[in-house]
Amino acid sequence: EMELARANAHQKAATIDGMSVHVESNISGVDEARKAVHYGADGIGLYRTERHYLGRSTPPSRGQLIDEMRNVLFATRKLTVNIRLLDFGADKSLSYLSFLSEKNPALGRRGVRFLFDNPELLETQLSAILEVSKSFNVRILIPMVTVPGDVQRVKEVVHKIAREMGVDEVPKIGAMIEVPAAALSACEISKHVDFMCFGTNDLAQYSFAADRDSVAVEEYFDDSSDVIFRLLSIVHGDVRGMPLSLCGDLAARPEFVARLLQCGIKSFSVSPALVPIIKQVVRGSKWIS
Ligand code: PEP
Ligand code: MG
Repeated sequence: EMELARANAHQKAATIDGMSVHVESNISGVDEARKAVHYGADGIGLYRTERHYLGRSTPPSRGQLIDEMRNVLFATRKLTVNIRLLDFGADKSLSYLSFLSEKNPALGRRGVRFLFDNPELLETQLSAILEVSKSFNVRILIPMVTVPGDVQRVKEVVHKIAREMGVDEVPKIGAMIEVPAAALSACEISKHVDFMCFGTNDLAQYSFAADRDSVAVEEYFDDSSDVIFRLLSIVHGDVRGMPLSLCGDLAARPEFVARLLQCGIKSFSVSPALVPIIKQVVRGSKWIS
């Protein structure tokens, strides 16, 4: 079984009843990018960019960001890459960025909210992404979208910078669906985005009100609960035609692949070494049960 998976790793995957499915990879640096290509990923479903901000005493300059992202993008070759905007604020913080001290950081200025509070960070990152979009196939993914206005605000900045840079073709823009309110208003959000990506790690954290990293409440944190599948189904029903992908840990669990296909997920993003395995599971699954 494993050998078969490895042998077919670079072939596209389709279900028994012929629906083609993308199995992509989550990455955060050059090593994983190389591995993703090695293991036959069909794309980069999630490029986490926090690493470019770690281990320094000031935020990276536009030029530094461009250089570092280019290194990663060269390694991904011709794959389409979803570059996620910085997702700092809750568990992760940085000495040189001023975080407001909050009682409940996971419910505070996290992800895109933190970027709205630090517009120069947002603008520098978007400007760097628009620059690399001239030579690589990239899309922009927004973390912690809660209301449609979050997407609209980011888009305004994207278009402003694109005008300043003389960039005509703006990358596609997607929303992470990882907050229950976003799932339940997917229809409104869908008017402003080209694709949606479920972050089931956070969707579970916020649905069950249980810190995803806390052992004390781990019994409550259940990312494969009916509750989660119900949210996925609601989104699927509400946004027919919208490309839906899933990049949380749930995507990498073979026993749930068939059920996720039924929720309209046509793209799974998992860690590089798991790509061949999930492809093989897809090949043995039916889309319509
Ligand atoms: C998620 O929340 O499921 C996700 C993929 O993003 P992260 O784990 O980086 O928060
Ligand atoms: Mg998340």
